[in-house]
Amino acid sequence: MILKQFQQYIDGQFLNADQNFESINPANATSWASMPAASANDVNRAVQAAHYALSNGSWPLLNATQRGKLLYRLAQLLEDNADAIAQIETQDTGKIKRETRAQILYIADYYRYYAGLADKVHGHQYPVDKQDMEVYSRREPIGVVAAIVPWNSQLFLSAVKLGPALAAGCTVVLKASEEAPAPLLEFARLVHEAGFPAGVVNVITGFAQDCGLTLTSHPLVSRIAFTGGPETARHIVRNSSQNLASTSLELGGKSPIIIFADADLESAANAIVSGIFAASGQSCVAGSRLLVQKSIHAPLMKLLVQKAQSIRLGDPQDLTTEMGPLATERQLQRIENLIQLSTEQGAKLLTGGSRAHEMGKGFYFQPTILDCDHDQLPCVQQEFFGPVLSVLQFEDEAQALTLANNTGFGLASGVFTKDISRAQRMVKKIRAGIVWVNTYRAISPLVPFGGFGLSGYGREAGFESILDYSRSKAVWINTSDQPIADPFVMR
Ligand code: NAD
Repeated sequence: MILKQFQQYIDGQFLNADQNFESINPANATSWASMPAASANDVNRAVQAAHYALSNGSWPLLNATQRGKLLYRLAQLLEDNADAIAQIETQDTGKIKRETRAQILYIADYYRYYAGLADKVHGHQYPVDKQDMEVYSRREPIGVVAAIVPWNSQLFLSAVKLGPALAAGCTVVLKASEEAPAPLLEFARLVHEAGFPAGVVNVITGFAQDCGLTLTSHPLVSRIAFTGGPETARHIVRNSSQNLASTSLELGGKSPIIIFADADLESAANAIVSGIFAASGQSCVAGSRLLVQKSIHAPLMKLLVQKAQSIRLGDPQDLTTEMGPLATERQLQRIENLIQLSTEQGAKLLTGGSRAHEMGKGFYFQPTILDCDHDQLPCVQQEFFGPVLSVLQFEDEAQALTLANNTGFGLASGVFTKDISRAQRMVKKIRAGIVWVNTYRAISPLVPFGGFGLSGYGREAGFESILDYSRSKAVWINTSDQPIADPFVMR
């Protein structure tokens, strides 16, 4: 089979790399494309190009409104090419096209949001207690940004980094995951077409040692915006002790969805199913821990098992498919191991639990529900990043809260109840960066996104995020026409 050849995008040019690696289509476990593995030299070229573009050429001459216009153009191109890019993303990641296409169309709104914000971020004037002083601050781009993303929602996770970075006037080296880099390498063509000057956005992919380490410890990188797992985050924090770049970390989760007995069960069940089985569970906000009030455990389990068993697995390019494969064989093995460990320790399989062999060689896993009798089971504590729901029961609000917070992660959470006072009490006490009440998985460009604890630090999306890509410079101007007195002459 002839493999489709992708290129890296450095300094406004599409280039081959010395080494290539093959990318696998998870729906049939066969190689379909050849990807450029960035060497340390390639990374260095990309960072140098980004650093040069920061203060040379046309980029620093653009005013904020003009930067916004480029972002508007990129948003339009994303919309115009949504179908083609979605097809590539689906082929490389296995995420169903229904989701990839819809997500790309919504991502355009994130770029529009930051396009609009570009000329709304500015410094301040300070009425200081000194005579004849005009004091103000300027907001300036923070510098070269290393944006590093995983494979699962890479266009979205890039948009929440590139949008504010470019709006603020930064330049970027975007590193796609080596697991499925095709959509971002293809996205680079839209950046090029939109007319961003050479070096402003560079898109590369590669492996931890040559690419990741070189990028995150590079002396010309001023900010690292990372999304991925906690273990990689620890490497990145260590690497960045070289350049002391400011860093944001968007990491994993083991997010609880709490269902009280008064909740609308059908509605809650639909949210639970979408929370854990959308994207085959490969979502950082997957609602993977279900906490159910004891009195409704039996009817809710019945409903959930029915819904899980009726999910249509299939070709991810087919618009009628409801759940696609996992992205990698490694993911499949990890999930199988965790389920085995958990069932050995007492977790009970209500449905699923193994590969979907009827789907051939593809990396398909059955939608799985595990009933758990205590919260120290591996399936309750560890992130699967797959379609596996672990269920625990609680008696009352206090126990629900204890179970919800008994995790090192703290990304998202959901509460289902008709009691508004109880909902408010839970909102205050749940330790997570997002609480959804009677809904789940809703996002918007306006709303900050991020976690506590092992889920990382820093927030993406929303207005404040643009401030992370700029820095404040204080300016003091003496407006007096009197000479400054000699400080060593006593009067
Ligand atoms: P990962 O941490 O293995 O990889 C993420 C990225 O880091 C990839 O581009 C990878 O090449 C790069 N990388 C790996 N080692 C590196 C190093 N030493 N230096 C620099 N870069 C390096 O994550 P993954 O397995 O691809 O993705 C799954 C994880 O991402 C899950 O934990 C998931 O919850 C998390 N995630 C979080 C969010 C969020 O917004 N909080 C969103 C999506 C995914």
